[in-house]
Amino acid sequence: MAKLSKDNLLLIFTVLGVVVGIGLGLSLRDPEKVWSKRHLSYLRFPGDLFVQMLKMLILPMIMSSIISSLASLESGTAGKLGVVSMTYYTLTTFSAVFLGIVLVTVIKPGKWVQTDVTALVGNVKTTPCVATAVDTIIDLMKSCFPENLIEATFRSQKMCLKFFNGTEEIPPEIAMVLSPEERALFTEVPEKITSDGMNILGLVVFSVALGIVIGVIGEDGKPLKNFFKSLEACSMQLISWVIMYSPIGITFLIASQIVGMKDPGQELHRLMGYVITVILGLAIHAFIIIPLLCVVLARRNPLKFVGGMAQALLTALATSSSSATLPLSIKCCEENNGIDPRVTRFVLPLGATINMDGTALYEAVAAIYISQCVGNDLSLGQVILVSLTATLASIGAAGIPQAGIVTMIMVLIAIGLPTNLFILIFPVDFMLDRLRTTVNVHGDSIATAVIERLCEKSLQKDHRENAGEDSGVR
Ligand code: ASP
Repeated sequence: MAKLSKDNLLLIFTVLGVVVGIGLGLSLRDPEKVWSKRHLSYLRFPGDLFVQMLKMLILPMIMSSIISSLASLESGTAGKLGVVSMTYYTLTTFSAVFLGIVLVTVIKPGKWVQTDVTALVGNVKTTPCVATAVDTIIDLMKSCFPENLIEATFRSQKMCLKFFNGTEEIPPEIAMVLSPEERALFTEVPEKITSDGMNILGLVVFSVALGIVIGVIGEDGKPLKNFFKSLEACSMQLISWVIMYSPIGITFLIASQIVGMKDPGQELHRLMGYVITVILGLAIHAFIIIPLLCVVLARRNPLKFVGGMAQALLTALATSSSSATLPLSIKCCEENNGIDPRVTRFVLPLGATINMDGTALYEAVAAIYISQCVGNDLSLGQVILVSLTATLASIGAAGIPQAGIVTMIMVLIAIGLPTNLFILIFPVDFMLDRLRTTVNVHGDSIATAVIERLCEKSLQKDHRENAGEDSGVR
């Protein structure tokens, strides 16, 4: 009871943080005066601390939780968990993409307002093929196997499109085929897009492999298993402490975002149809499709489940990062919704990396919206291409702010549109990013309930066998 009220108190403070953040932001915002970057960073500072603390925990948490979860499972159960998770992720991502395509095709937001594309982005011409969809698939697969694990903790996948992340120089072979304006665009992509560069996908793959191996080799793997179990326990404790700070962090993140927000004015009018389509899609996915899956497949009350996830969902909204939210997602799923840690600690890190329903939906809508703006009607083949590349692009997107708009460029390339057209949707991306990140985290959390239910028998069997083994009955 005492614990329940402590959690409730934290949630109340977090909601208050959101309200105070909005109030503070609105009262400090002055349309006459633009805050300097330095002053904005002072205001954001308490929020930055929160995000950095969460990010600091990502590495020990992802590795220790995946490894100890898989190491404590029989290989059959681990395999089943893996197959069920991947199948569920693929189906939900495709359904999100499909929904996005249907909405954008029916609503046709690109035709709502006549957009003078040339005035906005300069000459619209077919871009030299910077990277094809095949290049991106190859890069995505390569990034699953980082050649250097230490490097993977600070350098993101070498996806061609990740050159947008500003942490790397444009490689000469790509720079060669770019026009000077395009080259400038690649290097001038706003600072916000810069990625923090961790190759999480590679680390997840390595952790999965190591976890399975520890489980398979038995006795020799025990010291490592104990080490990661202990690291996991320590990480979870650290997370509990960091979470206490979340109301303050969230307040300042929101306030600084509101203060620094450029007045979208005309742009918002132009983008209204697009914004409505994306929000409608995200709402249908979050409020109808995912809850339905929760009821039908997990046999759980979605309202209650979402209530238990509130802290994580608010953090996703404030940080625009599913990776930074991961520690809270794990805590909320386990402590408030009672999901088996063997499931959460495998399914959530994997989901935060590759299962982004909100991002996938948005990628499809954005690419088709852009092609409508330039009067390019897509053939059925191109629409299919959009669905495939949007899915891949969402898998490739890191769980960091605005990673989706970077990988969306791959969808543009797939349908033969100039890459600089992403500028058309950029003014409202910071806002849509928050919403799609929240949907991403929501989808991942419900996935734990569904997967736990679908693997229930194997997990119970595994539990009995482990209990027998521990008491020497086996
Ligand atoms: N910010 C999103 C996330 O962290 C990714 C995206 O830009 O869509 O989940």
